[in-house]
This record gives sequence, structure tokens and C-alpha cells, in this order.
Amino acid sequence: MLNIGNGINMNLEVKLPDDYFDIVFNEIKNNRTIFDIVFSFLIKKVECADGLFILLSKLKRDKKIEIIKNKIIFIDSIDENYKNELKKYFDERIEKLRKKIFFSPLEISKFYQCERRFFLEKYLKLKTKKDEKSKEGEKIHKLIKFFLENYLRKNIDEIIEELKKNEKNIKEEYKDYLNFLNNFLKKNKFSTVFSERRFISLEKSLISSSDLICVKDGKIFPVEIKMSFRKNKATLLQLIGEAIVLERYARKKVDYVFLIGLKNKKIGKIKIDEKLKESFEKYRRKIIKVILSNKIPNIKEITIKKGICNYCHVKDMCDEIEKIRKYLKGS
Ligand code: SF4
Repeated sequence: MLNIGNGINMNLEVKLPDDYFDIVFNEIKNNRTIFDIVFSFLIKKVECADGLFILLSKLKRDKKIEIIKNKIIFIDSIDENYKNELKKYFDERIEKLRKKIFFSPLEISKFYQCERRFFLEKYLKLKTKKDEKSKEGEKIHKLIKFFLENYLRKNIDEIIEELKKNEKNIKEEYKDYLNFLNNFLKKNKFSTVFSERRFISLEKSLISSSDLICVKDGKIFPVEIKMSFRKNKATLLQLIGEAIVLERYARKKVDYVFLIGLKNKKIGKIKIDEKLKESFEKYRRKIIKVILSNKIPNIKEITIKKGICNYCHVKDMCDEIEKIRKYLKGS
């Protein structure tokens, strides 16, 4: 928990496993490439790869390894004493990096739409009600996860029938969504697809979740699945954030992010460039300023104009704040 003023605590959602050092250390072996290790992390659902790069640079500085063409080459042995020293260094570095405020790319996208809504939801932690739309979104994500877990083992009809046993209201159109997704995966000939992976970048203070991570020819792509395809700035910010976190995780450039709209059956292949990254960084810096200011942000005209308030979960509270502000101004 991090106290950021006015007695308000913000949760650091970063929960690294107690044996994080061992998880990372045991992966560092002679002749392994960095991507081999990252790939192994993806399989084992290791959420944070920063520990790997902390260890590799320390080992390199201490002349224990060399990295040649991304391959780890041991040039000196590691005894128990050195390993203990390494663990101490690792734990101290990780502890320092954890003491920050973390955001998700989705939160940055929401912040862009309305600073006040972000402030009320994330900072004041006002409870938000789940509407039917988000409940359906959760169900579809479960469906996709189940589909990918059983990919090539069960056909789409079997998957739908199986899900019907445990879930209510599995609609006929869900079959179309899975077929559409299936065609996308087949057409792009990805060698590996991981579903629902969460990534933590200690360096960037970001926690992101990607619906799919697809691998092809040694390249890695995040895929965001939405009910409707909307290529607006808010969505773009979320996608760029996911790409940035994945780049830091794999230490590999992410060239594209895919955006899939299940209902309107659209796919976008969005090229990640420096301008988009800068825009994301701008909002990431601004979000910290707003939080540290300890002030409820004003409503922006553009938020109302764009209709964001129509589907805002904290609208009642926002209206109350406006009433109080008007009253205080008049008194
Ligand atoms: S009602 Fe509109 S202005 Fe108020 S928090 Fe929600 S989106 Fe923002």
C-alpha cells in the first residue's frame, strides 16, 4: 500500500512470487537465448521479466557471463556465496522498483476520456456497478479462453456445447465470434498463441493484460478483442500501452497490435510508431500529476460532447460533486 497524501492509500497491485529470484535464476543457462527464456516465461505465466534483465546485467558486470547475439555464454562459475550476494542485490532492486504507482494501459485510456472518472474510480476507489455489457464481455473472454485451451482438440460446436453446461445464456452468435477468431488465427499462421496474459513492467510502472499474445517468425504481437471495433484515440492509447509493456517484457520491438471487433467482424492491424508511444507517455506522466495534486479534476467539455458520460459508472457521484461545488461557489 502506498500513501500518496490526504491519507489516501493506493494499492500496488504488483504481487511478484516469493520465489521470483529462483524462477528467474533457474532459467539462466549456458547457450540459451533471451527469447528462449521469455518464451518459457510466457508458457509458465511469469508476469514480470524485469528480474531477468536485472540479473543478466549484474552477471555481465561481474564478468560471469557474456551475451553474444542474444545468447548467454557463461565465462565464470557461480558459487553459493556469489549466488547469495546476487539474490540480495536482486531483492533490493526489485523492492525499490515496486514502490511506485502502477497503472494499466486501459486506465490511461480511461483517463484520456475523462480525468475525473479515472480519479473517482481508481484514486477514490468508488465502487462501480457492472452493467450487462461488461458482464457479457467477461463471458466472451471466458469463451475465447476455453476455445484456445482446446484449440485443435475440440471443434467450435463442441466448445459451445461444453460451455452451455456451466454458463447460462450462451448465445448462438457466439459461434460466429469463435469462427471469426479461428479464421484470423489460421490466416495469420501464428506459431504460438497465448491467451490472457498479464504483464508487469516495473521499469514503466505499468500492468497490462492482453487478450492474446501471438508469435510468428520470432516476432510477437498483442491482440485486443473487443465486442465492437472502434479505432479511436482512447482505444489506440490502450493498444500502444500493451505494445510498450510487451516490448519491455520481451526486449523485442513490437511492430503491430491487432484489434478485433467480434460483433462488427473487423480486424485492424495497427502499426506502432514513436509518435504514438510519445502520446501514451504524455498521458502516463499527466496521470501522476493529477493524482499527486490531490484535487478532483474538473469536467471537460469534450467529455460531455463525446458522450462519455452516457456510459459512466460513477455518474451519480460526479453529479453530486458538481452540486456541492456549485453550492460552495454560491455560499
Ligand atoms: S459523468 Fe462524465 S464527467 Fe462525470 S466522471 Fe463520468 S464521464 Fe466524467
